[in-house]
Amino acid sequence: MTAVRLVSKLLKFKGFRAVSFWFEDRGRDLVIAVKPHKNGCLCPECGRRGKIVHARPARRWRDVRVCGRSVWLLYRPREIRCPTHGRHVEQTPWAAPSARVSYRFEYVMLRYCQAMPQAVAAQLLGVAPSTLSDILHRVIERQRQGHKIRGLITIGIDEISCAKRHKYATVVYDLERSCVVWVGRGRARKTIDRFFRFLSAYQKAKVKWACCDMSEAFIGAIEQHCANAQLVLDRFHVVKAINDAVDEVRKEQWRDASTSQRTALKGLRWLLYRHSTTRSRQDTKTLKALEKANRRIYRAWRLKDEFEQFWEYKARWAAEAFLKRWTTTALKSRLKPLRRFVRTVRKHAEGILAFVDTRLTNAVAEGINRIIRLIKNRASGFRSLDAFADMIFLCVGDLDIPAQIPARFRTL
Ligand SMILES: [Zn+2]
Repeated sequence: MTAVRLVSKLLKFKGFRAVSFWFEDRGRDLVIAVKPHKNGCLCPECGRRGKIVHARPARRWRDVRVCGRSVWLLYRPREIRCPTHGRHVEQTPWAAPSARVSYRFEYVMLRYCQAMPQAVAAQLLGVAPSTLSDILHRVIERQRQGHKIRGLITIGIDEISCAKRHKYATVVYDLERSCVVWVGRGRARKTIDRFFRFLSAYQKAKVKWACCDMSEAFIGAIEQHCANAQLVLDRFHVVKAINDAVDEVRKEQWRDASTSQRTALKGLRWLLYRHSTTRSRQDTKTLKALEKANRRIYRAWRLKDEFEQFWEYKARWAAEAFLKRWTTTALKSRLKPLRRFVRTVRKHAEGILAFVDTRLTNAVAEGINRIIRLIKNRASGFRSLDAFADMIFLCVGDLDIPAQIPARFRTL
């Protein structure tokens, strides 16, 4: 076996072969001159043979490293004329058109970036971190270009914080397939409208359930664009709203309390948030004492505790009756934050009651958000939302991006 054939075989060249190779930069770079099989000259659009117009200057493609050496593929691509597509640069079997790295490099990079911080992936691949994120962005953009969102039936909409200083992004989930289908800057109505512009009228009509928080922007957009969709307000966001109301009562009381009264109110914060199923005996004792120490906080907490029951109902009429009773009691409580909560509940009663029929929550979305937070923390933040969105699509997107690389190059 000759040396060049050995190199081709070792590096698993398929669809092309090595012609010669040499070392550069004091042995740090291995340059391999390559050639497509059967003389190439194939049109990148249709794969048919074209007529050579002329050869272009030599180009280099980065391949994965071998034993700590950077590997470069060298070739003079020819410009060809295809009978149907006109003038084009011929197809290179090892890399996508106009890519500067080989398919295999792209595959390895995508898999590394799914599993580790980009800085580490860049080190292993022997490129600068900024180069890596550029290449990554280009690959992901190329794969997602023309990708259609398909089979949306149950959607969830939520916001995530994407940078410091209260910058938010809106994320749309396919709750059935547990993946992210769209990411957009901001959390206002115009952001979410942009998403719906992506969908065809048919796709919008197909959406059956939509789950979101009580944000007017999201609710308004769903009502406008998805006429057939049943809006379900996310249970966790409703629970959070009532917890916040109770906490507000606690804060008010804390502000007005004297120093001696404050000792009785200490350590209440997390206790008031706690769900009844995780309450310990000590918690019950503290709450009993609270009944004597501060009637207002106690009353707020009681209302919250009673409201938990709502989620257990299986029949809509029973849930409706409960909600009616509960809101009347809460209104009589003379606690401002809770009355505000009641007003929200009454306004969105339909969406909250929809939970009883559908049992639909954004729990899947919360799980995905956990992964998204992990990605963010792992990278210690992102330079731009684009870079963040790239990683979201790569790790929890609706398209399996590494699987889009031609199968023969999918080796780690
Ligand atoms: Zn063609």
